[in-house]
Amino acid sequence: TMRPYIVGNWKMHGTRAMLAEARAIDRAAERLLKVEVAIAPPFTLIHATRKEANLIGVGAQDVHAADGGAHTGDISAAMAKDAGAGFTIVGHSERRADHKETNELVKEKAEAAIAAGMNVIVCVGETEEERDSGKAEAVVAEQLSGSLPEGENVAEKITVAYEPVWAIGTGRTPTVDDIGAMHRHIREKLVDTFGEDGAAIRILYGGSVKPDNAAELLAADEVGGALVGGASLTAESFLGIIIAAA
Ligand code: 13P
Repeated sequence: TMRPYIVGNWKMHGTRAMLAEARAIDRAAERLLKVEVAIAPPFTLIHATRKEANLIGVGAQDVHAADGGAHTGDISAAMAKDAGAGFTIVGHSERRADHKETNELVKEKAEAAIAAGMNVIVCVGETEEERDSGKAEAVVAEQLSGSLPEGENVAEKITVAYEPVWAIGTGRTPTVDDIGAMHRHIREKLVDTFGEDGAAIRILYGGSVKPDNAAELLAADEVGGALVGGASLTAESFLGIIIAAA
């Protein structure tokens, strides 16, 4: 069975002063080899974080779908990889909302990242309104069929993160049973899409994961790790989650 995968998404947080946290996380992760750990800092810190890290993975939070060109302010997958990113998150709900990213665009970004030699974490998750109206599983199924990359041997490059929008940064989480039900549903879709390879794709839970709820949330069915926002910003709280996963 695969090691749990704990990924910190720093979002739009962090100047060079945060490198001390990255260094502390890396040093502690060297003593916790049962857990695979990564950080996705802002683009501006990828290179410096990579230099601090002996063990943990370093990734980007997004990449552009194009290889290059006249796209002021954007960063291509090859550029992020050159800076030191081994993977990228794509389709985070904040990008879907803030930048009106569609499933189709998320898929293009995932395929561009894989073509550049990176792994991808593809994010899906329903809004509160969608959950309340009983549509959560249908919404996630549609996001998966629209945003998962296609191509040969892509499954081994993919991690899926289930992040219910209403649980992000709110301190609220689904029940362990609800997480298990959604992760089983995602597993079925992955096996439908990728056959046997889909059975090995890790499915992370994200949304208000903290040191004190991590063990419980990580024990839900088909949960292969966590995508952590706020609690990944200090080594102390992120390590609390990593220890809970070990
Ligand atoms: P929080 O852990 O702050 O709820 O954020 C979750 C998230 O969006 C990680 O990508």
